[in-house]
Amino acid sequence: MILHEHYRMKTIKMPPLRPIDIDSIHRLLKIEFRKYKMPVVDLIQVQTRDPFKVLISTILSARTKDATTTEASERLFAEVNSFDDLARIPVKRLEKLIFPVGFYKTKALHLKQLPEVINKLFSGKIPQTVEELIQLPGVGRKTANLVVSVGFNKPGVCVDTHVHRICNRLGYVKTKTPFETEMKLRNILPIKYWISFNSFLVSFGQNLCFPIHPRCSACPIYRFCNRVGVKTKYSIHNE
Ligand code: SF4
Repeated sequence: MILHEHYRMKTIKMPPLRPIDIDSIHRLLKIEFRKYKMPVVDLIQVQTRDPFKVLISTILSARTKDATTTEASERLFAEVNSFDDLARIPVKRLEKLIFPVGFYKTKALHLKQLPEVINKLFSGKIPQTVEELIQLPGVGRKTANLVVSVGFNKPGVCVDTHVHRICNRLGYVKTKTPFETEMKLRNILPIKYWISFNSFLVSFGQNLCFPIHPRCSACPIYRFCNRVGVKTKYSIHNE
């Protein structure tokens, strides 16, 4: 039985969560990040420094494994490097190039619609704010925040399933949805950490703080974590 359930069943007041030392957590996750494979969108930014490619690969990455996104992006960028290219290429060809990313038919349609919307609303230039970016087809808040932070190196708070899960486990936030987590982080996370926070937590979530059976016994931030809702025991034998 996890600690929080124990206290609830005994109707004993739960001890307060330990305060979060976000500076130490960020410092340790930065070291951890260097051990792992970079998330695909960061990788594309490092390799290309091209906001167009960051935007497109971020759209492709939704509900798709990084390895699949990487391969689909490579195939696509071999033929498409600008909005003009997207306007020219038939949608069936787009489908073929990006298959098997999740929802590839819908994503191909969204990519096909992008040049017209970008031209009409933003004079052919990729906008640099979340509020503008979410007007683009296939772009939700997560994608928009990632394009702002990774594509333009401006403060954005991108909350995906990893960021949402880990922030709740740490006890840094107590939220039900990624949107709530984003809004909360916008209030409490120092702005100097906004750009790197998503990258660090995504790779940490992919490699150590797994959705099921997080490897707490190997965790560099264990002493800072409240492990809210974590059922795995702190023992390597149980993980
Ligand atoms: S201690 Fe466990 S739950 Fe907490 S961050 Fe580390 S791996 Fe995740």
